[in-house]
Amino acid sequence: MSSISHITTPNWLSPDGQPVVIAGPCSAESEAQVMRTAEWLREQVPQLRLFRAGVWKPRTRPNSFEGMGPEALPWLRRVREELGLPITIEVANAEHVRLALDAGIDVLWLGARTTVNPFSVQEIADALEGVDIPVMVKNPINPDLQLWIGAMERLQKAGITRLAAIHRGFSTHGKSEFRNEPQWHIPIELKRALPEIPLICDPSHICGNRTLLADVSQRALDLQMQGIMIETHPDPDNAWSDQQQQVTPDRLREILDDLVFRREQSEEVSFEAQLEEYRKRIDLIDSELINLMAERMDISRMIGHLKKNQKVTILQIRRWDEMIRRRLVLASRLGLGEDFSREMFELIHEESINLQNAVMNKQRGFSAEDPA
Ligand code: PEP
Ligand code: MN
Repeated sequence: MSSISHITTPNWLSPDGQPVVIAGPCSAESEAQVMRTAEWLREQVPQLRLFRAGVWKPRTRPNSFEGMGPEALPWLRRVREELGLPITIEVANAEHVRLALDAGIDVLWLGARTTVNPFSVQEIADALEGVDIPVMVKNPINPDLQLWIGAMERLQKAGITRLAAIHRGFSTHGKSEFRNEPQWHIPIELKRALPEIPLICDPSHICGNRTLLADVSQRALDLQMQGIMIETHPDPDNAWSDQQQQVTPDRLREILDDLVFRREQSEEVSFEAQLEEYRKRIDLIDSELINLMAERMDISRMIGHLKKNQKVTILQIRRWDEMIRRRLVLASRLGLGEDFSREMFELIHEESINLQNAVMNKQRGFSAEDPA
Protein backbone atom coordinates (compact mmCIF):
# COMPACT_ATOMS: atom_id res chain seq x y z
CA MET A 1 0.00 0.00 0.00
CA SER A 2 2.72 2.43 0.97
CA SER A 3 6.33 2.97 -0.01
CA ILE A 4 7.41 3.71 3.54
CA SER A 5 8.14 0.37 5.14
CA HIS A 6 11.20 -0.78 3.28
CA ILE A 7 13.34 2.30 3.81
CA THR A 8 12.53 3.02 7.40
CA THR A 9 14.74 2.14 10.37
CA PRO A 10 12.34 0.01 12.40
CA ASN A 11 14.23 -0.35 15.69
CA TRP A 12 15.42 3.19 16.27
CA LEU A 13 12.99 3.87 19.11
CA SER A 14 13.53 0.64 20.98
CA PRO A 15 16.68 -1.24 19.92
CA ASP A 16 15.97 -4.04 22.44
CA GLY A 17 12.31 -4.34 21.46
CA GLN A 18 11.03 -3.46 24.95
CA PRO A 19 8.08 -1.03 25.18
CA VAL A 20 9.38 2.51 25.66
CA VAL A 21 8.22 5.23 28.00
CA ILE A 22 8.12 8.88 26.96
CA ALA A 23 7.18 11.35 29.68
CA GLY A 24 7.41 14.98 30.66
CA PRO A 25 5.09 17.93 31.08
CA CYS A 26 2.43 18.97 28.62
CA SER A 27 4.17 22.37 28.52
CA ALA A 28 7.56 23.64 29.56
CA GLU A 29 6.50 26.37 32.01
CA SER A 30 9.70 27.45 33.74
CA GLU A 31 13.27 26.29 34.08
CA ALA A 32 12.56 25.10 37.62
CA GLN A 33 9.45 23.12 36.57
CA VAL A 34 11.29 21.49 33.67
CA MET A 35 14.30 20.53 35.81
CA ARG A 36 12.14 19.31 38.69
CA THR A 37 10.06 17.09 36.40
CA ALA A 38 13.11 15.67 34.66
CA GLU A 39 15.03 14.96 37.88
CA TRP A 40 12.00 13.34 39.52
CA LEU A 41 11.31 11.26 36.40
CA ARG A 42 14.90 10.08 36.21
CA GLU A 43 14.67 8.96 39.80
CA GLN A 44 11.31 7.18 39.47
CA VAL A 45 11.34 6.01 35.85
CA PRO A 46 14.83 4.80 35.00
CA GLN A 47 13.56 3.29 31.75
CA LEU A 48 12.53 6.73 30.44
CA ARG A 49 13.43 6.78 26.75
CA LEU A 50 12.59 10.42 25.89
CA PHE A 51 11.75 13.52 27.89
CA ARG A 52 8.86 15.39 26.28
CA ALA A 53 7.75 19.00 26.72
CA GLY A 54 5.56 21.36 24.73
CA VAL A 55 7.34 24.57 23.74
CA TRP A 56 4.69 25.88 21.36
CA LYS A 57 1.18 24.84 22.37
CA PRO A 58 -1.67 24.59 19.86
CA ARG A 59 -4.64 25.89 21.87
CA THR A 60 -8.28 25.79 20.84
CA ARG A 61 -9.04 29.35 21.98
CA PRO A 62 -6.82 32.45 21.93
CA ASN A 63 -5.68 33.94 25.23
CA SER A 64 -4.86 30.50 26.63
CA PHE A 65 -1.24 29.76 27.49
CA GLU A 66 0.41 29.16 24.12
CA GLY A 67 3.75 27.88 25.35
CA MET A 68 6.94 29.65 26.39
CA GLY A 69 8.42 29.45 22.90
CA PRO A 70 12.19 29.67 22.25
CA GLU A 71 12.85 30.78 25.83
CA ALA A 72 12.20 27.17 26.91
CA LEU A 73 14.76 25.61 24.58
CA PRO A 74 17.84 26.22 26.81
CA TRP A 75 15.96 24.60 29.75
CA LEU A 76 15.51 21.44 27.70
CA ARG A 77 19.13 21.57 26.68
CA ARG A 78 20.02 21.55 30.38
CA VAL A 79 17.93 18.40 30.90
CA ARG A 80 19.78 16.76 28.08
CA GLU A 81 23.24 17.84 29.20
CA GLU A 82 22.89 17.49 32.96
CA LEU A 83 20.63 14.46 33.17
CA GLY A 84 21.52 12.71 29.91
CA LEU A 85 17.88 12.49 28.81
CA PRO A 86 17.12 12.79 25.08
CA ILE A 87 14.49 15.46 24.38
CA THR A 88 11.44 15.51 22.16
CA ILE A 89 9.25 18.54 21.38
CA GLU A 90 6.37 19.36 19.06
CA VAL A 91 7.03 21.41 15.93
CA ALA A 92 4.25 22.91 13.83
CA ASN A 93 6.06 24.99 11.21
CA ALA A 94 9.43 25.56 9.53
CA GLU A 95 10.50 28.17 12.08
CA HIS A 96 9.91 25.72 14.95
CA VAL A 97 11.98 23.14 13.08
CA ARG A 98 14.86 25.58 12.62
CA LEU A 99 14.85 26.60 16.30
CA ALA A 100 14.54 22.97 17.48
CA LEU A 101 17.46 21.85 15.32
CA ASP A 102 19.60 24.79 16.50
CA ALA A 103 18.82 23.81 20.10
CA GLY A 104 19.97 20.22 19.51
CA ILE A 105 16.57 18.64 20.19
CA ASP A 106 16.86 14.85 19.65
CA VAL A 107 13.43 13.89 18.33
CA LEU A 108 10.63 16.01 16.86
CA TRP A 109 6.95 15.28 16.88
CA LEU A 110 4.04 16.56 14.81
CA GLY A 111 0.87 17.25 16.78
CA ALA A 112 -2.60 16.12 15.80
CA ARG A 113 -3.55 19.59 14.56
CA THR A 114 -0.54 19.63 12.27
CA THR A 115 -0.92 16.14 10.82
CA VAL A 116 -4.41 17.11 9.75
CA ASN A 117 -3.03 19.79 7.41
CA PRO A 118 -0.94 18.60 4.43
CA PHE A 119 0.35 22.15 3.81
CA SER A 120 1.87 22.30 7.32
CA VAL A 121 3.24 18.77 7.06
CA GLN A 122 4.85 19.59 3.72
CA GLU A 123 6.33 22.79 5.11
CA ILE A 124 7.93 20.80 7.93
CA ALA A 125 9.08 18.05 5.57
CA ASP A 126 10.74 20.69 3.35
CA ALA A 127 12.47 22.24 6.37
CA LEU A 128 13.80 18.79 7.28
CA GLU A 129 15.18 17.99 3.82
CA GLY A 130 18.63 16.48 4.32
CA VAL A 131 18.38 16.47 8.15
CA ASP A 132 18.80 13.14 9.89
CA ILE A 133 16.49 13.45 12.89
CA PRO A 134 13.77 11.07 14.10
CA VAL A 135 10.21 12.33 13.79
CA MET A 136 7.08 11.04 15.50
CA VAL A 137 3.73 11.74 13.89
CA LYS A 138 0.57 11.95 15.95
CA ASN A 139 -2.66 10.85 14.29
CA PRO A 140 -4.75 13.65 12.78
CA ILE A 141 -7.60 14.90 14.98
CA ASN A 142 -10.15 13.30 12.64
CA PRO A 143 -10.24 9.53 12.13
CA ASP A 144 -8.56 9.51 8.72
CA LEU A 145 -5.94 6.80 8.38
CA GLN A 146 -4.80 7.99 4.94
CA LEU A 147 -4.01 11.46 6.27
CA TRP A 148 -1.86 9.89 8.99
CA ILE A 149 -0.03 7.68 6.49
CA GLY A 150 0.27 10.62 4.06
CA ALA A 151 2.05 12.74 6.67
CA MET A 152 4.60 9.99 7.23
CA GLU A 153 5.08 9.60 3.49
CA ARG A 154 5.82 13.33 3.13
CA LEU A 155 8.50 13.09 5.83
CA GLN A 156 9.92 9.92 4.39
CA LYS A 157 10.19 11.60 0.97
CA ALA A 158 12.21 14.37 2.61
CA GLY A 159 14.70 11.71 3.74
CA ILE A 160 13.52 10.99 7.30
CA THR A 161 14.16 7.30 7.97
CA ARG A 162 13.48 7.17 11.71
CA LEU A 163 9.73 7.62 11.92
CA ALA A 164 7.22 6.66 14.59
CA ALA A 165 3.48 7.05 14.85
CA ILE A 166 1.69 8.22 17.99
CA HIS A 167 -1.91 7.24 18.59
CA ARG A 168 -3.62 10.04 20.61
CA GLY A 169 -7.25 9.35 19.83
CA PHE A 170 -9.76 11.14 17.60
CA SER A 171 -11.98 14.09 18.20
CA THR A 172 -15.71 13.28 18.21
CA HIS A 173 -18.93 15.16 18.55
CA GLY A 174 -21.02 14.39 21.60
CA LYS A 175 -20.43 12.93 25.03
CA SER A 176 -17.74 10.35 25.63
CA GLU A 177 -15.74 9.06 28.58
CA PHE A 178 -12.64 9.99 26.58
CA ARG A 179 -11.32 13.38 25.56
CA ASN A 180 -10.38 11.80 22.24
CA GLU A 181 -11.98 8.48 21.25
CA PRO A 182 -9.32 5.80 20.85
CA GLN A 183 -11.02 4.10 17.86
CA TRP A 184 -8.53 1.26 18.29
CA HIS A 185 -9.23 -0.19 14.86
CA ILE A 186 -7.43 2.77 13.24
CA PRO A 187 -4.02 2.26 14.91
CA ILE A 188 -4.46 -1.48 14.31
CA GLU A 189 -5.04 -0.74 10.62
CA LEU A 190 -1.95 1.50 10.61
CA LYS A 191 0.13 -1.29 12.09
CA ARG A 192 -1.11 -3.60 9.38
CA ALA A 193 -0.33 -1.06 6.63
CA LEU A 194 3.06 0.01 8.03
CA PRO A 195 4.32 -2.81 10.26
CA GLU A 196 7.85 -1.43 10.45
CA ILE A 197 6.95 1.99 11.82
CA PRO A 198 6.99 1.90 15.63
CA LEU A 199 3.58 2.78 17.00
CA ILE A 200 3.20 4.24 20.46
CA CYS A 201 0.17 5.36 22.41
CA ASP A 202 -0.49 8.70 24.11
CA PRO A 203 -3.03 7.75 26.80
CA SER A 204 -2.93 11.29 28.27
CA HIS A 205 -4.60 12.93 25.28
CA ILE A 206 -6.94 9.97 24.72
CA CYS A 207 -8.21 10.09 28.31
CA GLY A 208 -8.13 13.76 29.18
CA ASN A 209 -8.24 12.67 32.84
CA ARG A 210 -6.13 10.63 35.23
CA THR A 211 -8.55 7.83 36.02
CA LEU A 212 -8.47 6.01 32.70
CA LEU A 213 -4.71 6.29 32.05
CA ALA A 214 -3.75 2.88 33.39
CA ASP A 215 -6.46 1.02 31.45
CA VAL A 216 -5.68 2.75 28.18
CA SER A 217 -1.94 2.11 28.65
CA GLN A 218 -2.59 -1.59 29.25
CA ARG A 219 -4.83 -1.76 26.22
CA ALA A 220 -2.09 -0.20 24.08
CA LEU A 221 0.46 -2.75 25.28
CA ASP A 222 -1.99 -5.59 24.69
CA LEU A 223 -2.33 -4.38 21.11
CA GLN A 224 1.45 -4.64 20.82
CA MET A 225 2.15 -0.96 20.61
CA GLN A 226 5.81 -0.18 21.21
CA GLY A 227 5.37 2.22 24.07
CA ILE A 228 3.45 4.97 25.79
CA MET A 229 3.76 8.74 26.11
CA ILE A 230 2.36 10.10 29.38
CA GLU A 231 2.22 13.73 30.44
CA THR A 232 3.95 14.19 33.76
CA HIS A 233 4.08 17.27 35.96
CA PRO A 234 5.42 17.86 39.48
CA ASP A 235 2.17 19.63 40.48
CA PRO A 236 -0.52 18.55 37.99
CA ASP A 237 -3.36 20.52 39.58
CA ASN A 238 -1.47 23.73 38.95
CA ALA A 239 -0.20 22.93 35.47
CA TRP A 240 -0.63 25.69 32.90
CA SER A 241 -2.17 23.30 30.36
CA ASP A 242 -3.93 19.92 30.47
CA GLN A 243 -4.18 19.88 34.28
CA GLN A 244 -6.74 17.11 34.52
CA GLN A 245 -4.71 14.56 32.63
CA GLN A 246 -1.18 15.09 33.97
CA VAL A 247 0.25 12.87 36.72
CA THR A 248 3.25 13.15 39.00
CA PRO A 249 6.32 11.00 38.28
CA ASP A 250 5.40 8.93 41.37
CA ARG A 251 1.97 8.15 39.92
CA LEU A 252 3.55 7.29 36.57
CA ARG A 253 5.85 4.86 38.40
CA GLU A 254 2.76 3.16 39.93
CA ILE A 255 1.00 2.96 36.58
CA LEU A 256 4.09 1.38 35.02
CA ASP A 257 4.48 -1.09 37.90
CA ASP A 258 0.89 -2.28 37.43
CA LEU A 259 1.17 -2.80 33.68
CA VAL A 260 1.36 -6.37 32.48
CA PHE A 261 3.90 -6.80 29.71
CA ARG A 262 2.54 -9.78 27.84
CA ARG A 263 4.53 -11.70 25.29
CA GLU A 264 3.42 -11.95 21.70
CA GLN A 265 4.17 -15.67 21.56
CA SER A 266 4.60 -18.42 24.10
CA GLU A 267 6.77 -21.49 23.70
CA GLU A 268 4.23 -23.66 25.52
CA VAL A 269 2.90 -26.23 23.05
CA SER A 270 -0.37 -26.70 24.91
CA PHE A 271 -0.90 -22.93 24.88
CA GLU A 272 -0.39 -22.79 21.11
CA ALA A 273 -2.72 -25.74 20.57
CA GLN A 274 -5.42 -24.25 22.77
CA LEU A 275 -5.12 -20.89 21.03
CA GLU A 276 -5.38 -22.57 17.64
CA GLU A 277 -8.48 -24.42 18.78
CA TYR A 278 -10.16 -21.21 20.00
CA ARG A 279 -9.29 -19.42 16.77
CA LYS A 280 -10.81 -22.22 14.69
CA ARG A 281 -14.01 -21.92 16.68
CA ILE A 282 -14.09 -18.16 16.16
CA ASP A 283 -13.53 -18.61 12.41
CA LEU A 284 -16.43 -21.02 12.28
CA ILE A 285 -18.74 -18.79 14.29
CA ASP A 286 -17.88 -15.79 12.09
CA SER A 287 -18.73 -17.68 8.93
CA GLU A 288 -22.02 -18.74 10.51
CA LEU A 289 -22.70 -15.11 11.45
CA ILE A 290 -22.16 -14.05 7.85
CA ASN A 291 -24.46 -16.78 6.55
CA LEU A 292 -27.15 -15.89 9.04
CA MET A 293 -26.83 -12.21 8.25
CA ALA A 294 -27.21 -12.89 4.51
CA GLU A 295 -30.31 -14.96 5.21
CA ARG A 296 -31.72 -12.19 7.40
CA MET A 297 -31.17 -9.59 4.67
CA ASP A 298 -32.89 -11.84 2.10
CA ILE A 299 -35.93 -11.87 4.36
CA SER A 300 -35.76 -8.06 4.62
CA ARG A 301 -35.91 -7.85 0.84
CA MET A 302 -38.97 -10.11 0.82
CA ILE A 303 -40.60 -7.86 3.42
CA GLY A 304 -39.78 -4.93 1.13
CA HIS A 305 -41.70 -6.58 -1.72
CA LEU A 306 -44.62 -7.29 0.55
CA LYS A 307 -44.79 -3.71 1.83
CA LYS A 308 -44.41 -2.36 -1.69
CA ASN A 309 -47.42 -4.34 -2.88
CA GLN A 310 -49.49 -3.17 0.06
CA LYS A 311 -48.20 0.42 -0.18
CA VAL A 312 -47.06 0.32 3.46
CA THR A 313 -44.21 2.54 4.78
CA ILE A 314 -40.84 0.92 5.35
CA LEU A 315 -40.29 2.00 8.93
CA GLN A 316 -42.87 1.07 11.52
CA ILE A 317 -41.55 2.74 14.59
CA ARG A 318 -43.58 0.72 17.13
CA ARG A 319 -42.30 -2.54 15.75
CA TRP A 320 -38.71 -1.25 15.84
CA ASP A 321 -38.99 -0.07 19.49
CA GLU A 322 -40.40 -3.39 20.57
CA MET A 323 -37.85 -5.32 18.56
CA ILE A 324 -34.80 -3.54 19.96
CA ARG A 325 -36.15 -3.77 23.50
CA ARG A 326 -36.58 -7.53 23.35
CA ARG A 327 -33.21 -8.08 21.73
CA LEU A 328 -31.42 -5.98 24.33
CA VAL A 329 -33.02 -7.96 27.16
CA LEU A 330 -31.91 -11.24 25.64
CA ALA A 331 -28.43 -9.93 24.83
CA SER A 332 -27.90 -8.63 28.32
CA ARG A 333 -29.06 -11.94 29.79
CA LEU A 334 -26.29 -13.60 27.79
CA GLY A 335 -23.68 -11.14 29.02
CA LEU A 336 -23.41 -8.88 25.96
CA GLY A 337 -22.75 -5.19 26.59
CA GLU A 338 -25.72 -2.87 26.05
CA ASP A 339 -23.87 -0.36 23.84
CA PHE A 340 -22.48 -3.13 21.69
CA SER A 341 -25.87 -4.83 21.25
CA ARG A 342 -27.67 -1.59 20.53
CA GLU A 343 -25.13 -0.47 17.95
CA MET A 344 -25.09 -3.89 16.30
CA PHE A 345 -28.89 -3.95 15.93
CA GLU A 346 -29.04 -0.36 14.80
CA LEU A 347 -26.55 -1.20 12.07
CA ILE A 348 -28.43 -4.33 11.03
CA HIS A 349 -31.70 -2.44 11.04
CA GLU A 350 -30.24 0.37 8.96
CA GLU A 351 -29.05 -2.11 6.33
CA SER A 352 -32.47 -3.76 6.34
CA ILE A 353 -34.15 -0.41 5.71
CA ASN A 354 -31.70 0.34 2.90
CA LEU A 355 -32.52 -2.96 1.24
CA GLN A 356 -36.26 -2.41 1.56
CA ASN A 357 -35.75 1.06 0.18
CA ALA A 358 -33.94 -0.39 -2.82
CA VAL A 359 -36.89 -2.71 -3.46
CA MET A 360 -39.36 0.21 -3.30
CA ASN A 361 -37.30 2.49 -5.52
CA LYS A 362 -36.97 -0.14 -8.21
CA GLN A 363 -40.72 -0.04 -8.67
CA ARG A 364 -40.49 3.70 -9.35
CA GLY A 365 -38.05 3.10 -12.16
CA PHE A 366 -34.68 3.86 -10.61
CA SER A 367 -32.33 1.75 -8.54
CA ALA A 368 -30.75 2.49 -5.17
CA GLU A 369 -27.37 2.65 -6.89
CA ASP A 370 -28.39 5.68 -8.99
CA PRO A 371 -26.22 8.61 -7.98
CA ALA A 372 -29.18 11.02 -7.84
C1 PEP B 1 0.65 17.41 23.32
O1 PEP B 1 1.20 16.31 23.19
O2 PEP B 1 0.85 18.19 24.26
C2 PEP B 1 -0.37 17.80 22.32
C3 PEP B 1 -0.68 19.06 22.06
O3 PEP B 1 -0.96 16.75 21.77
P1 PEP B 1 -1.98 16.55 20.52
O4 PEP B 1 -1.27 17.08 19.32
O5 PEP B 1 -2.14 15.07 20.55
O6 PEP B 1 -3.22 17.28 20.88
MN1 MN C 1 -1.05 18.22 26.47
